[in-house]
Amino acid sequence: MSRLIGKTALVTGSSRGIGRATAVRLAREGALVAVHYAANEAAARETVELIEKDGGRAFTVRAELGKPGDVHELFLGLEQGLKERSDDTTLDILVNNAGEATATGIAPEDVTPEQLDRFFAVNAKAPYLIVQRALAQIPEGGRIINISSGLTRVANPDQVAYAMTKGAIEQLTLHLARHLAPRGITINSVAPGITDNGSAVFGIPEAVEQMAQLSAFKRVGQAGDVADVVTFLATDEARWITGAFIDATGGTLLG
Ligand code: NDP
Repeated sequence: MSRLIGKTALVTGSSRGIGRATAVRLAREGALVAVHYAANEAAARETVELIEKDGGRAFTVRAELGKPGDVHELFLGLEQGLKERSDDTTLDILVNNAGEATATGIAPEDVTPEQLDRFFAVNAKAPYLIVQRALAQIPEGGRIINISSGLTRVANPDQVAYAMTKGAIEQLTLHLARHLAPRGITINSVAPGITDNGSAVFGIPEAVEQMAQLSAFKRVGQAGDVADVVTFLATDEARWITGAFIDATGGTLLG
């Protein structure tokens, strides 16, 4: 399909995992995609190559979020990349996907102030400031999609610090939905459950089997399962959805 021809998109953290799958799908629908990464330049380039092989258009943008000047650096790269390819800096689709978590979590008693600061800086403050900065260049019909987590709906004490940051991004979605609706811009949260992002644990069959039991479908999510939901929200077909929490956990939250 070609539902996003003529559109531009920024997907933060699209060198790997859910972000990469999202970038590939948005490009397949015709969008010019900015593939953002922090450190893994080779992986980001690989995402661009995958897109180009598919006949799509994309470019890389580097910025480590959570550091002073991060959002400014991101937008300098984004604006340059857009200008070179589309003559202006209009951004139609923003996907706040980049996020940091610890695989096994941290016991609530052991979470340090520094760890809290880092989680909030990358997972909550950066997306806020990215949205704030992007608003000057998102037109009528624009789309913002924030990647949350099923952990805002199910208790896991060792993930409390991370889950708090995802609660924050859901609040960003809720309150800005009303603010942006008069401009015809939608903003939604998508919550993945356990999703294979290519990290080592997904190569251990026993661990995968155990994680699979959490989903009603008895399998772990694939990055594409989430990316398809994000892509739908980016299209005109999703124009009537805003301020929503979209459960993309494969039924994990059904209990
Ligand atoms: P990955 O860990 O596979 O990839 C993370 C991406 O974010 C990479 O592109 C990485 O760039 C980038 N990134 C990480 N930290 C920073 C930073 N400080 N500044 C800039 N970029 C950064 O991610 P997933 O696909 O697993 O997760 C994507 C989103 O989905 C996250 O928000 C996550 O919290 C959420 N989520 C994931 C779940 C899962 O099971 N996978 C479950 C629920 C939610 P680089 O390659 O350069 O390091």
